[in-house]
Amino acid sequence: MSASILHNLDQLRASAGKALEILTNQSDVAFQDRAKRWTDIDRKTPAAIILPASEEEIQKTVQWAVETSVPFVIKSGGHSEWSTIDGSGVIIDLSKYAGVEVDARAQTAILRGSILSKEVAVALADAGLFAAVGNGNPIGAIPYFLGGGVAIATSITGYGSDQVISARMIDAKGNILEVTEEKEPDLLFALRGAGQFFGLVTQLVIKAHPLAALGNDQGVIWLGSFVFPLERADEVAKVMKVLMDDSSHATAGLLMIMSPPPQRQPILLVSARYTGNPDDAKVAYGPLYDLQPLAAQGGPVPIQNANDGHEAYNAPGTFKRFGVVGLRRFDGEAFSKVIKVWKKLVAECPDAADTSFNFQWESRPAKQPDFESANSLHDIRYWQNNFIWHTDAASRGKVDEFNDKSIEIMRGPDRSEYADFQNGTRTGPIELRFRGDRKLEKLKELKKKWDPTGVFTTQLLD
Ligand SMILES: Cc1cc2nc3c(=O)[nH]c(=O)nc-3n(C[C@H](O)[C@H](O)[C@H](O)COP(=O)(O)OP(=O)(O)OC[C@H]3O[C@@H](n4cnc5c(N)ncnc54)[C@H](O)[C@@H]3O)c2cc1C
Repeated sequence: MSASILHNLDQLRASAGKALEILTNQSDVAFQDRAKRWTDIDRKTPAAIILPASEEEIQKTVQWAVETSVPFVIKSGGHSEWSTIDGSGVIIDLSKYAGVEVDARAQTAILRGSILSKEVAVALADAGLFAAVGNGNPIGAIPYFLGGGVAIATSITGYGSDQVISARMIDAKGNILEVTEEKEPDLLFALRGAGQFFGLVTQLVIKAHPLAALGNDQGVIWLGSFVFPLERADEVAKVMKVLMDDSSHATAGLLMIMSPPPQRQPILLVSARYTGNPDDAKVAYGPLYDLQPLAAQGGPVPIQNANDGHEAYNAPGTFKRFGVVGLRRFDGEAFSKVIKVWKKLVAECPDAADTSFNFQWESRPAKQPDFESANSLHDIRYWQNNFIWHTDAASRGKVDEFNDKSIEIMRGPDRSEYADFQNGTRTGPIELRFRGDRKLEKLKELKKKWDPTGVFTTQLLD
């Protein structure tokens, strides 16, 4: 660790008090545990990990970092590639500051610090409510909402960012701001979709929905799976094309090319969801049952438990990444080509056998909000959502090449046809993440106003 950061940390201890936990010993188990992330891609070792336990300590830490020009990143759930920094900077780890408070009458919830998606879903369900939280239980809920938030019930609730009512945020000068429609409408516009680039959000107030909006009395959604041999992909794709485009049934899910353990037999798995009366799922997915899959199962699951059972995907370590791109339609021919790319990938990189190339659909469009925001995904119902997973660092470049190839095939040549997802990537043309000239211009102006030196990343400054 550099001597100057060490010296600066003494200043922080003096201003924030002795109770503030700061880890600096890289050979210490506590340090190593806190430095772990969901993915090892580009993971670095910071000079220090600071663990504030209150909003006041968080503010003091940001003020110290700004005053001493020490670069930092914030960590909530640690499920992105961006909450990591090398020895030139520090991590502000919010693990010790977390909370959720539900107001059942107002149908809102206050989220604090590093509260996780599953914790939010359970607290809401206990109060007879739900919100569009993401598909991973241990994802930090606040970054998920700030970055757009694609979820199970988007057609009922809108995107995650559409549910943001207000925030408390520490800005690039270390000031705490109340971000509401009345006080800071432009900043609220930015936080709803580009929020990770404007400040450290200590608190979000989100809108919630009564469980009855799921279309049944039990607060459940139907989850099912259909397994086909990969050789039947063309046949399945034809049926899926019709099913995905049919908005008379609220179907959604993933068409997955994979080879799950222990057999490692290549299969096509339709991981399906149905929102409404769970008894109607049989009708909605009738055409898939008619194809007589190798295996088919399904049943109602309480919405707060919809993402249980994914522990293996959620665990920290190894090389993982989502390759995501928003699309206009499902193209069966392109999908066949993607199968060939996936086969080549797992043949050439056996350590990437857990990688699945997936097409994600939602038969109904996302609910449109009645306000403008940074989020520009409301016309997207289809995604190529590849799950990259390999264990050998030497495969890194090759695996990315295969992923890029498959994305290129699915999106086709016309850039106006597709969108990038701000919760999934920070590279590539930024206008694909914040689409429409006016939106990007407005965000760039706001970034210049609120964070001109790039304290919270240089995104929107470049
Ligand atoms: C298994 C898995 C499933 C996923 N499923 C979905 C999904 O269904 N829908 C979806 O939209 N996304 C999904 N994502 C993406 C996920 O929502 C984003 O990567 C999210 O930003 C992760 O948040 P985190 O707190 O876990 O990660 P972190 O790495 O801790 O943080 C993510 C980013 O936000 C910044 N940040 C952290 N806390 C704050 C804060 N309080 N204020 C400001 N910035 C902050 C960090 O510096 C970092 O840049 C998934 C990711 C994984 C790994």
